[in-house]
This record gives sequence, C-alpha cells and structure tokens, in this order.
Amino acid sequence: MDNNNACTGKAYTGIDYFRCVAAFLVVAIHTSIFTTYSEQCDMIATRIIARIAVPFFLATTGFFLAPSYSKDNSRLAKLVKKMSAIYAFSIIIYIPINIYNGYFSTEYLLPNIIKDIVFDGTMYHLWYFPAVIIGATIVWFLTKKFGIKRTFAATLFLYAAGIFGDSLYGVSQKIPFAESVYRHIFEVSDYTRNGIFFAPVFIAIGAIISDRRVSISIKKYVAGFVISFIFMLAEGIIVHRAGLVRHDSMYIFLIPCTYYLFSLLTFWRGERKASLRTFSLVVYIIHPLMIVAVRLLAKLTGTQEIFIENSVGHYFAVSIFSAVFSLIFTLLCQKVKRRKIKSAAAPADNMLTARGQRTWLEINQDNLKHNVQILKNAMPEKCELMAVVKAQAYGHGMYETAVCLNKIGVKAFAVATIDEGIELRRYGIRGEILILGYTDVRRAKELRRYQLTQTLISYKYASLLDSQGISINAHIKIDTGMHRLGIDYREAGDIEKTFKLKHIHISGIYSHLCVSDSLNAEDIAFTQKQISNFRQAVDRIGQSGLALPKIHIQSSYGLLNYPELECDYVRAGIALYGVLSSPDDKVRKPLDLRPVLSLKTKVILIRTIEKGETIGYGRAFTASRKTKIAILPIGYADGIPRSLSCGKGYVMINGKRAYIAGRICMDQTAVDITDIPDVTEGTTATIIGDGILAPTAADNAGSISNELLSRIGSRVER
Ligand SMILES: *Cc1c(COP(=O)(O)O)cnc(C)c1O
Repeated sequence: MDNNNACTGKAYTGIDYFRCVAAFLVVAIHTSIFTTYSEQCDMIATRIIARIAVPFFLATTGFFLAPSYSKDNSRLAKLVKKMSAIYAFSIIIYIPINIYNGYFSTEYLLPNIIKDIVFDGTMYHLWYFPAVIIGATIVWFLTKKFGIKRTFAATLFLYAAGIFGDSLYGVSQKIPFAESVYRHIFEVSDYTRNGIFFAPVFIAIGAIISDRRVSISIKKYVAGFVISFIFMLAEGIIVHRAGLVRHDSMYIFLIPCTYYLFSLLTFWRGERKASLRTFSLVVYIIHPLMIVAVRLLAKLTGTQEIFIENSVGHYFAVSIFSAVFSLIFTLLCQKVKRRKIKSAAAPADNMLTARGQRTWLEINQDNLKHNVQILKNAMPEKCELMAVVKAQAYGHGMYETAVCLNKIGVKAFAVATIDEGIELRRYGIRGEILILGYTDVRRAKELRRYQLTQTLISYKYASLLDSQGISINAHIKIDTGMHRLGIDYREAGDIEKTFKLKHIHISGIYSHLCVSDSLNAEDIAFTQKQISNFRQAVDRIGQSGLALPKIHIQSSYGLLNYPELECDYVRAGIALYGVLSSPDDKVRKPLDLRPVLSLKTKVILIRTIEKGETIGYGRAFTASRKTKIAILPIGYADGIPRSLSCGKGYVMINGKRAYIAGRICMDQTAVDITDIPDVTEGTTATIIGDGILAPTAADNAGSISNELLSRIGSRVER
C-alpha cells in the first residue's frame, strides 16, 4: 500500500527518521568532527559510534526485501537496477573531482577502475552502492536456497573473515598464512569492508527482523541495545589501543548493536516519510562534494579558521550545505512526482485510461470503527471483541481491516488458516490470533514462532500436536451439536486429558452455534441446547479443579440473538462488516451497524441492439424492444455471482437499477440501461453499496452476504 492512510499506520516512521541521523553520522566520519578538540574523542565518535550508520542502511535494505525472497527475483532485480543507476549517476558527478585528484593518471588505470567500481567505489564513500548490490544478491540467493537462519550463519562467517582484515588485522598479521591470504584479498579490494564480507550480515539482520515481527517487550530491546553499545565502545577502544586496526568499520558488537537498534526503530510506526529517504540518500551522495565546496568558499572568503581548521565548524558547514542542497533536490523530486501523478490521474474519468481501476472496492473505515463501537456496547462489560478477519476479512482486505482494528484497540483476531495468521503477524498485528481451522502438526514450530493460538479440533489431533514437543497456545473446540470440528461435549475424559497435555497450554475453550441466526422456535430450542451442552462441559472442567480458560460461543448472530450470554469473547465476523447474512433476518437485538464495503465498476462500452437480437453466451437474453446495453468489466471471476444472470440481479447506475442482461461471463457483464438517462462510457456502476445491500444481492443469488463478500476476486483493486 502506497497510500498514506493515518488509520493503517503501517509505515516505519522510526526507520525513515533514522535514515537522516545515519546520513549525518556519515558526514561526521568524513569531516572528523572532533579532531580540533580531542583526537581520542573524535576516534570514539567517528571510528566507533558513527559506524552504526552504514549497517543501519544495509539492514533497511534487508528488511524491506525480506518478504519477497520466496517470490520471483523481480524485487532483487529492481533493487539492483535502482542502486546501479544511482551508483552510475554518482560516479559521473564525481568525475571532475577524480580528475582534480589525479585519479586517472595512475599506472594501472583500467584494473584500478574495475576494482574500484566493483568494490571500493571511485570516490571514498561510493563503495556503499556496489556493497549493497553484491550483499543483497548474496543474501537473496542464499535465503532462497537455505532459509534465513542458515544464511545468517553463513554471513556471520563471512563477517568473521572480514573482521580479521579490518579491526583485528593486527592479529592476522602475526600469522604468516593469514597474512598472505589477506594480502591477496587487498590486491582486489582495498578493504574487507565490502559487499562480500561486510554487507551480507547486516542485510540478513534486516531480513530476520522483518520475519520476526512478533511482539516482544520493548524493554528487552532497549536493554539489548544499551549493553551491546557499551560492549562495542569497549571493543573499539581496546582494538585501537592495542594497535590492531587496519581499518575500523567492523566490530563484533556492531552486529547485536545493529540488531537491537533496528528492532527498536520498527516499534515507531506512523506516517510514511518517503521524502526523508530521498533526502538522506542525497546527503550521503553529495556530502564529499560539499566538503570541496566548503573548502573553496572558505578560501574565497578568508574564513578557513572557522570552516576548515575548526573541525566542528567544518562539520556544520558541510552538513548545512548538504542539507540545503538535498532539501532543494527532494522538493524538486516531489514536484515532478506530483505532476506525474496529476497527469496520470487527470483523465481517470475517461474509461480508456482508467486501467487498473477497472473494478474496485471502497472500504469505509469510519463505518468499520463505528461497528466496533456498536458491538462493544452491546457486549457484556468484561467480554472482548475477537475480530474474525478470515478470507481477506470477508473480502474487505485483511491487511487494511486488521491494522485499522488493531490501531483502535482490538486485541484479538480469528483467522481460518495458519498462513492467514502469519500474514497478520507480518503486518505487525499484536495480541491474540486464533486459528479457527486445522493446521498440519508439522507446522507446530511456526505456531510458536508467530505466537499463534491453535484450535484443537479433536483429542487425537491435540495429542499429535503435543507430541511435536513444542510449546503451543491453544483453544479447545467443543462440539455441542454442529458436528463439524471439536471434541464431543460428553467426552469429559478427552477434554480433561487435553488440558493435561505437556506442551499445550490451553488458554481458551469454545463452541460454535449453527442455527443462532434463526428465531423460529425449534431453532431457538436447539441453540439453547447447544449452549447448555457447552455449559455442562465448561462446568465439568471447573469441577475437576482445572483453571478455567477464556470461554466463547457467540459469533455475530450469537450476539445479536443471545446478547445475554456472559463470555470472554464474541467472535464477530459479518456484523463487524456491517451487514446481516440475509436481508429478511430479524434479530432480538438489532444494532445500528453500517456496511463497510462497496464494490464498483465502470461502464466501458455502450451499444444498442435491435428487437430480436441476443446477448452473450447461450444467447440467453433476447431483446423484446430496441435495447441499450452497457458492458461492465466485472465477471464471476471478480466475485459477482453467476447466478445473478438473466435479470436475477442488478447494478445501480445513476441511482437506478440496471438489470443484468444475459449470462454473466468470467470477466464481463452486460446490463440493460434502456430506461436510464445520462449513462456514458465511464459512468460508475455499483454492484454493492449505494442502495444495493450485500444481503439483498446475495439473496438474489441464492446465497448469503458472507459468501458474496468473501468471494470478491483478488484482481479487484482494493
Ligand atoms: C467464521 C466464524 C465466525 C464468524 O462468524 P460470523 O457469523 O461471520 O460472525 C465465528 N466462529 C467460527 C468458528 C467461524 O468459523
């Protein structure tokens, strides 16, 4: 999602801000900020502390690349392309300085240039770009092949090899064999701080953090950072004092330091600050040029004493020049971008250019929040809302829905599958996530890793899961008459045995009602029986001296028709999305719920057919008069039920019903607009919303809202 939606708040504000901090740390390194006052102080500031900057940038790359390792290589290709372009551009702008420095008058010019382009950079700070490209490529393919854990181990190994050519070079110098190995390495690359030895480990760290966004207490990270930072300081001072350093980019404790710092930054979420990325990147690229500019200007104005000889003055002059230059550049970029967006958006009303907007969903998050409030008000005080977001949140988009709900304080979620659960964690969802369905026991490790709560669907399943030897949170499901999943409520022995399984921690027990939506007497009696069966099972647990976990039995209709039940959770799905399953449903506690979703498309073609002509497959529609037809780019693959064909369903155009003419195709639908004035190509047609309620549309299709919504196709733009 590129939209900056205040409600979703997925963006990593902390990372964006720290990019700027890191860029100015790099400037401090290259201007040796404190040398005028104390060499010692400068060493600690720039040769140790500021060394965190580049690993941070590398971790950022790994972090945002990570979710796509399993997919095709296009994300990597995109990164390589982008970095190469920036690198090439930077090389070009530094050519004048290279000339001035006599770069091109060395003896072995060609080999030197190749070596610099691949490893060292043609200017001292440009090594970063080939390092990202090489490092990211290494991590990408290792992760694809061996998984992130083994990849991390391999990158640690490379880093260890690198460190003995960097801050611990003094040690390898004492070993003749090692010395000769490093001598060969240095013939190819000036330092081991490059894309092979240095970059991979930090890119892998970013990937690990991205993969493990489970809520661990922030305090642990703060402690971890403080401790590793202190150790890094000590390590840096020791190796410098001992005279071991050849170069000082690599420390052992730089690794935990980067890990904890980056993890901490991921906690700070909010608005996306995309412009800070450009800004910090430009500062990084441009600051050596600004060093030259400051020198020149100082000479011209006779202010060398303040801006060159004084290192702090020098630092600030270079920083301010770089910042101003970068700011102007960033603003110009934004302007160009905005103009591009504008020119792309301007003809959007014209269907010809409205590609990608063929058919789309509109989600009203205010209504979603409103529904949460209404449901909470209807629930007993101690009961919590468990938001059911399975099947892409009933077609609404799981990401948008869950993140919005999490933000407004919903702390419990239910999904159908483990993969949906993992996806939620990747979105940064905190709190309990209950998997309502079956999970293969071989995936027990993932249940624990992502802190997901598994439903135990039978005693046999529970004991099999237990035998994996991995501690897991679970809710027991009780079958009280639906005869789908769960342990039979009468099997007291099985229920008790489940509680006593060694590795499984039971934090909840629940059941599901199968006719709670109906108010006919027989169904009410059945539901009452289910409820009392559940009670019986729960009471028996209490009597056998086991601590009672959380209990829940109501889904949406359970709450609307049996609001007096006192449970710990209500598992609300369809009600959360503001609709009933069927249009004529009466409930005991009607609530002011508002529909969250609209499904819309556009007329892409209008044609008139003569009396007697037919439309579509099977020639199922024959015009009884001269008929005006609008073609809509939506078909059953997008989720419009085929059973609405031939006038069983309609869409709204200009506030009027346009009945479906002929059979709905996989990608197209024709509607009759003979009696609707002012329809042109490009006019919006509403399938759900604007007076067409999902329950009505679903009912016309012989189904319920739940099915209609959850079947909205993945190619519909959300
Ligand atoms: C899907 C599901 C729900 C949610 O049902 P709604 O009727 O949409 O509220 C609740 N519990 C279980 C077990 C489910 O599978």
